[in-house]
Amino acid sequence: MRLHKALEGYGYRPVIGGVWHRTFWGVQPPDGTYVDLLCGGSYRVSSRKKTCAIYVCHACEAVLAECRSRLARTHQDVNAWR
Ligand SMILES: [Zn+2]
Repeated sequence: MRLHKALEGYGYRPVIGGVWHRTFWGVQPPDGTYVDLLCGGSYRVSSRKKTCAIYVCHACEAVLAECRSRLARTHQDVNAWR
């Protein structure tokens, strides 16, 4: 469910140094939680730090696109077996 939400683009997306990343978290986890970014980095959640997004992390977007297409292929495979 959490993964599904993130794949739809509604997941928790931290802004780090002006770069807008993506995670597989559906909602913002509690402060102090370490989250993995889709691009391979990690981030310690803090609700105190407020930065504005300057640009989107293209690596995160690429990973998300790959996950979506894999999921679509998996669903096609499942349907083919029926
Ligand atoms: Zn990223």
